[in-house]
Amino acid sequence: MNVLEKVPVREQDAAVRATNFEEVCLGYNKEEAMEEAARCIGCKNAACVKGCPVSIDIPGFIGQVKEGNIEEAYKIINEASSLPAVCGRVCPQESQCEGKCIRGLKGDPISIGKLERFVADWAFENDVHPEPPKEKNGKKVAVIGSGPAGVTCAGDLAKLGYDVTVFEALHELGGVLVYGIPEFRLPKERVVRKEIENVKRLGVKFETNVVVGKSVTIDQLMEDEGFEAVFIGSGAGLPKFMGIPGENANGVFSANEYLTRSNLMKAFREESRTPIMQARKVAVVGGGNVAMDAARTALRLGAEVHIVYRRSEAELPARVEEVHHAKEEGIIFDLLTNPVEILSDENGWVSGIKCIKMELGEPDASGRRRPVEVPGSEFIIDVDAVIMSLGTSPNPLISSTTEGLEVNKWKCIIAEEDNGKTTKEGVYAGGDAVTGAATVILAMGAGRAGAKGIHEFLSNK
Ligand SMILES: Cc1cc2nc3c(=O)[nH]c(=O)nc-3n(C[C@H](O)[C@H](O)[C@H](O)COP(=O)(O)OP(=O)(O)OC[C@H]3O[C@@H](n4cnc5c(N)ncnc54)[C@H](O)[C@@H]3O)c2cc1C
Ligand code: SF4
Repeated sequence: MNVLEKVPVREQDAAVRATNFEEVCLGYNKEEAMEEAARCIGCKNAACVKGCPVSIDIPGFIGQVKEGNIEEAYKIINEASSLPAVCGRVCPQESQCEGKCIRGLKGDPISIGKLERFVADWAFENDVHPEPPKEKNGKKVAVIGSGPAGVTCAGDLAKLGYDVTVFEALHELGGVLVYGIPEFRLPKERVVRKEIENVKRLGVKFETNVVVGKSVTIDQLMEDEGFEAVFIGSGAGLPKFMGIPGENANGVFSANEYLTRSNLMKAFREESRTPIMQARKVAVVGGGNVAMDAARTALRLGAEVHIVYRRSEAELPARVEEVHHAKEEGIIFDLLTNPVEILSDENGWVSGIKCIKMELGEPDASGRRRPVEVPGSEFIIDVDAVIMSLGTSPNPLISSTTEGLEVNKWKCIIAEEDNGKTTKEGVYAGGDAVTGAATVILAMGAGRAGAKGIHEFLSNK
């Protein structure tokens, strides 16, 4: 065994997976996981743990994998994380735990994410679940939203004995994990649903189809329904558009709509009652993870797909692994290119996208070089659908219906980082609703902080 190199993980072949919605990465088996775990040197002041927003005892769980004690490894992870099978698949480990791993100074860092995924999947297969709390304290807490922030907060509070109800606007639980991230990266039945089942086992109740701010307000939950505290984890689901001419043509989608149709409404299945447009050639505007997901979904639905991004490859905000997978599958990258107009035919359907070439100028406030237009370089890409993937912001429904809950200029709820405390007593918040679109693990970290804040508040009440 070469300790400097990680044990490779098996994947579906690019040519095959480009035509199906099965999971791309196949994960480690037990032998591979134990071999990879054996590379970890079990550092005392482990740098990897400092890079983990929910502070999993990484050397602790990897040490157990090394010995083949997978159940023990699962218990260690579960103390800090309610969603290990999700995180092991979609967390940007390269910039978090693995980015800090000491092994990475000379060689490959330990594949912490793949090991976490292996342990969580093993637990599913072997019917190992988190233990429900022994005692309840009878105090009622409401959680709004069943994404990673809400589910983590609910799980942590349930472990402390609280009587927790999660209110979810949609008919399915999981937030972006079910409606945003595609099946080929995060299986819904096999992974997300099972993680949520584990949170239910802790005693958490879930109510779907409840739009807080419309069906019921936060004030009503607290004043009329006996909830002593509320955690808001309502995410950032409102898509942004460019504001260019032609953007309201038929065949222009937000990435959110496109992915929701495919993931939640199963539009990729032939028998789906909510079919999606069968595009021939698609332009996806943007360069983040969401853009990669939309592009790879459109490809699987049979289209030729172009990513149109105004900066260069070095500035692509998507994870390197996602860009690599997208390229392998045949996505075409039109970099340093910016749309200026969407063209349509006489019936109002998209017939092309007019773009302009860009070059990189001086660095802007984000530290990245600012893209500037090259005069006279306009050209047209022939497409029949355009997917806008330019980011999202929080929906103002909750803030506009809750007295005393303050938001900033981007409509993000103002909350303290350490404990999720908002400007309204008894109301806590975290995840994308506070930070704007971010990551699963940051939302989970905020859910943990919110649970801690609520526990302190209700313990001293
Ligand atoms: C396509 C896509 C791909 C992504 N890929 C990755 C990735 O690979 N890795 C990664 O780390 N992150 C990724 N992210 C980001 C990550 O998914 C989010 O940062 C994370 O899900 C935020 O969690 P959250 O709990 O704050 O919000 P969400 O997951 O958005 O959950 C919020 C929930 O609240 C519900 N809700 C909203 N308003 C109300 C209301 N008024 N009443 C009741 N319920 C309400 C929503 O329906 C939703 O279920 C991706 C995001 C998208 C869109
Ligand atoms: S830093 Fe790397 S080698 Fe050290 S404990 Fe963490 S995973 Fe193991």
